[in-house]
Amino acid sequence: MDIDIGTRYGPLKANFKPPVGAMRLSEFVFNLFPMEERLVGMGVRAAQKDGRSVSCRAGCGACCRQPVPVSMPEAFLLYELVASQPQDQRESVVARFDAARAVLQANGFAERSIEAQNQNQFDVVGLALDYFKLNLACPFLEAESCSIYPGRPMSCREHLVTSPAAECSNPAQRDGDEIRYNIEIRPILAPVSLTQALAVLHAELESVPPIFIPIPLALGYAAEQHEGRAKTYEAEALFRSFFRILGPVAASRISPQGGAPN
Ligand code: SF4
Repeated sequence: MDIDIGTRYGPLKANFKPPVGAMRLSEFVFNLFPMEERLVGMGVRAAQKDGRSVSCRAGCGACCRQPVPVSMPEAFLLYELVASQPQDQRESVVARFDAARAVLQANGFAERSIEAQNQNQFDVVGLALDYFKLNLACPFLEAESCSIYPGRPMSCREHLVTSPAAECSNPAQRDGDEIRYNIEIRPILAPVSLTQALAVLHAELESVPPIFIPIPLALGYAAEQHEGRAKTYEAEALFRSFFRILGPVAASRISPQGGAPN
């Protein structure tokens, strides 16, 4: 299967041999991690050419207090990751998920995050700012480091900066009807959001709208989807559908001039 996807950093070309047989959506996400590494690497190399280097380090969990969105297939993988953990660890993680979900529900975030999918950018960014003010750590964060690093969601993989860590504690502020971003934060823009592409794929497969779930609600959503978690798809058809979706999703991130804006 030949892949040729135009991105803001140039084409991603590969000859890809999909696994034979059927797979669950969680397995599909797992199979995308090497490609995600290549895609993120394109952004990192472009930043390096510009004299910038990644400043994200273990022990800095500022971005893990933002409303990190995951698609349903990623929620399925997170569910399986937690289910496979040793009992002690699993109980601690589930307790942190329960506590985080209670905070979000008490603050009306479960409804707001779903409503925001149909609202404008101000609503979505406003939601993110209100979420950030809760100082609610991702339930997977332990000692300010990701406890599921090899299996972390796509959004986490795609979020890199080259600015001092302290700046990430203040991503933006509301000023009346405007959002003022912290321009000291220098992100490395991912060439494509695989979370978005996975959400579109799931929407196509299940004839539902694309769903983006904040991580603290992901286990709850996945737990309810018994059939969805167990359902298998023919692997080659799944990859073909995904690569068809990926092209337009990547194209939406290319500037009109074809450049790679930072
Ligand atoms: S999954 Fe890991 S990297 Fe992602 S927000 Fe949670 S702790 Fe941070």
